[in-house]
Amino acid sequence: MTDQLQSTSTTEVTDPADAARPSPAPHTVDPTLPARLARRVRAAADAQTYDCVTPFTAGVIAQLPVSTVADVEQAYDAARAAQTGWAARSVPDRAKILLRYHDLILQHRDELLDLIQLESGKTRKNAFEEILDVAGICRHYARKAPDYLKPRKHLGAIPVLTQSTELHHPRGVIGIVGPWNYPLSMSITDALPALVAGNAVVVRPDEKASLTALRAIELLDQAGLPKGVLQVVLGPGQTVGEAVLDRADYVMYTGSTATGRKVAERAASRLVGASLELGGKNAMYVADDANLRIAAEGAVRSCFSSAGQLCISIERLILHERIADDFLKHFLGRVRKMSLGSDLAWGTDMGSLISQAQLERVTQHVEDARAKGATVLAGGHPRPELGPYFYEPTVLEGVTGGMDCRNGETFGPVVAVYRVSSDEEAIALANDTNYGLNGSVWSKDTRRGRRIAEQIRCGTVNVNEGYAAAWASNGSPMGGMGESGLGRRHGAEGILKYTESQNVAVQHGTPFKVPTGVPEKVWARSMATGMRVMKGFRLS
Ligand code: NAD
Repeated sequence: MTDQLQSTSTTEVTDPADAARPSPAPHTVDPTLPARLARRVRAAADAQTYDCVTPFTAGVIAQLPVSTVADVEQAYDAARAAQTGWAARSVPDRAKILLRYHDLILQHRDELLDLIQLESGKTRKNAFEEILDVAGICRHYARKAPDYLKPRKHLGAIPVLTQSTELHHPRGVIGIVGPWNYPLSMSITDALPALVAGNAVVVRPDEKASLTALRAIELLDQAGLPKGVLQVVLGPGQTVGEAVLDRADYVMYTGSTATGRKVAERAASRLVGASLELGGKNAMYVADDANLRIAAEGAVRSCFSSAGQLCISIERLILHERIADDFLKHFLGRVRKMSLGSDLAWGTDMGSLISQAQLERVTQHVEDARAKGATVLAGGHPRPELGPYFYEPTVLEGVTGGMDCRNGETFGPVVAVYRVSSDEEAIALANDTNYGLNGSVWSKDTRRGRRIAEQIRCGTVNVNEGYAAAWASNGSPMGGMGESGLGRRHGAEGILKYTESQNVAVQHGTPFKVPTGVPEKVWARSMATGMRVMKGFRLS
């Protein structure tokens, strides 16, 4: 099996922007970059530093400063000072910056792709998803924020006499802690709607994502974001990350369910809101009428994108028994042909895991399943000759309840195959998890697909796609049910959560009191009649 997986990519450079680039030394960054980026971090000049490491080689590519809790406090002071002037600007004025940022992200995509690849170990194609994501979020909120945030008039308590207006005020300073798996997307996209809504932001990107995040923040400055509005601190989650979230007027956290619970408890004790984007154990169901060739190609992307280190990637493949063997022929054929490699170039199918800890987690899940009787249909081995943390795309069958990978999130390139005899059985199996992040259904009959999708208890369900259709539909909410989180990104919910709603109600004419000289009982009777009239006229 191992031999059939290709170890290097065949790369064709077709983009003129790529062709014009000088070839960088493999797996290094421009030596002047870290010092320049470090200036954007709120940290002392003599701060301790940490090593930025590329998973492709485990080599150090840069050093960046570590912020302290005192730096976090200074960041909040500066953000609060800048927020008032920022909130005073109109929404369209703030939104213009996002449109400029959209263009800058696309224009600088090649250098961003290099950084994303170097920091995360993923392929260029998967890194490009992050470029598309940031550009899409910019465009969506730049165009839609004025509508999402505009004051809305509602029918008041007494028609005509009461005028109620719903307003959305920025909360103040939003604290964001991002994970490592999507260094660009997960460091930046949650900040964009928060900023357009008139908030300032203090962000702590993951230590394994900081170079990309800082370069992206430089571009946001270039797009016109006023000084002070977006503060960056760097350092470990348990100290610096926690300090950021403990001071926030609203908490935006992405990471594991275990950490998310702690974050939620701390936010609850301060009575501030929190949005938590956590783990998943996502299922894809291939119905007996699916186009098997297309579904198999979709399954490869959905299971192994970013080497499975994607919260919405598929770890459970549920197959209708009538098509299971045929589907597996298509799917396993593709999996075994996948190319693995570390080129900073197009054409490779799968890259590296992020770290030794991730390699150990993936290896443990596969070995535990193997030892307890599961069959390895493809992959199942580390690939140290490609880089220290490479692991093959792996397909298991015969996974049962006692195995760690049955219910626990692997967060790696491992998928388990299950067979079912009906749609109902597939739905029950897909829902047999405490998580509820993403799901996928494949059927040529899209009505059947929708019907199944609506019964899967997940924040997003894709029909005839694995994850991209829902993820990139930026007008619709995205997030987790159950242990996959609280709150949503994208769409109206993804921006209104960063605001305090306020109802300003103006009363004209008679105020809400029993008119002088009218007995309360008579007043109550006339009010009851009024309520019936309003019901009759559908005034509610
Ligand atoms: P993790 O919870 O250990 O760490 C995630 C982030 O939280 C890291 O940046 C870490 O530094 C920070 N952190 C740790 N303790 C903290 C604390 N007390 N306060 C504040 N921040 C703290 O998770 P991990 O294993 O590194 O990341 C993988 C997990 O993240 C997976 O479960 C994955 O599904 C999840 N994830 C979810 C999404 C999503 O959008 N739903 C996206 C990416 C990753």
